[in-house]
Amino acid sequence: MSEISGRFLAGIHWRRLAAVSAIVLASACAFTARAQGAGEGKARNIIVMVPDGMGLADVTATRIHRHGLDGMLSFETLEHIGYQKTYSANSVITDSAPAASAWACGEKFNNGEICFHGDGRPFKPSILELAKKQGKATGLVATSTITHATPASFGAHVVNRNCENEIARQYIQVTRPDVILGSGVSKFRSVAADACGAVGDLIPEAQAKGYAVAYDKAGMDAAVAGGGRKILGLFGNGGTVPEYLRTPATTEPHLPEMTTAALEVLGKSRHGFFLMVEGSQVDWANHAKDYPYQLGEMLAFDDAVKVVRAWIDADGDRRENTLLIVVADHDTGGFAINGPQSALLQAGGTVEAGWTTGNHTGVDTLIWSAGPGSKALTRAIDNTEIYGVMVKALGDAKE
Ligand SMILES: [Zn+2]
Repeated sequence: MSEISGRFLAGIHWRRLAAVSAIVLASACAFTARAQGAGEGKARNIIVMVPDGMGLADVTATRIHRHGLDGMLSFETLEHIGYQKTYSANSVITDSAPAASAWACGEKFNNGEICFHGDGRPFKPSILELAKKQGKATGLVATSTITHATPASFGAHVVNRNCENEIARQYIQVTRPDVILGSGVSKFRSVAADACGAVGDLIPEAQAKGYAVAYDKAGMDAAVAGGGRKILGLFGNGGTVPEYLRTPATTEPHLPEMTTAALEVLGKSRHGFFLMVEGSQVDWANHAKDYPYQLGEMLAFDDAVKVVRAWIDADGDRRENTLLIVVADHDTGGFAINGPQSALLQAGGTVEAGWTTGNHTGVDTLIWSAGPGSKALTRAIDNTEIYGVMVKALGDAKE
């Protein structure tokens, strides 16, 4: 409680809304987890992988480019497939904040809200917080700022997704995921207040709390090789370098490399772990209506899923006890494949394509999954139901 109601380190002054603390406090106290007993269908590890803004046509186009018409991407061969509704509490067209909050906290939120109701209603703890309460290690990986809406929904509670300094503060001072890998140095070492009034340098505090801090791939690899159990990797400021713009001189890790590092660290946990991995920039590519950008991010995401599936398949115990869910939060751009109309394509080929909008669309999105509890994800569901599936897999009765 004292953590949530505010901690101040010498030299760091955090200006925050008192009401925010009060509501978080009330919600945290209202929740009591209890074990379910039999343990059937319990997952030791839960891994959620999010290609942000990915529609089904993105999958088709990437599949054709990578394998030709007959192949499959790494997540397409998971055992179970279903789909989800994506609307938010106040819009047919969701943004990433309520979309991820629906999974992370189990209910509808307004656009912009990160597992937090602006009207003061209480909210549930996130699946990451519940996993941590069970003694599991936890991790967040993204190619956006790690304080962006999707990862933030799992590791913070804020009224406005733009409060990225406050989200960083909650990561280091409140939720403390063991693995934090993404972009956004400036959110952890901020010099101007964000929309919630938070500002300050969190890096010394993170180091004091045991995080190995890395700013490039070499640093990340060294931290992992050093055997540390907590890692904070911050690569650039606004997002990692898009795949299609990378050169041999790029020092930032790729998404599959961050995923490998996360599994190496979290895999040491005696009680298992919760991990969220986001291919954040599939969304940005579709906003930009940029096919080479989308393709590069999609291929990297496919590679990240490959890394996870290889990790799971390397060990019978992992296979039995890991729930893997691959799900897009919403479609972006209404990307469609319009051709070629009278020819086939080989691997390496590119489709003729177009977008209906530069924004998100309101269409449903697909869910691929395997492992304990995933059978419940083989039908049409609301996005909020994924929370219940994960909570049940954790073994907590309350959803
Ligand atoms: Zn999104």
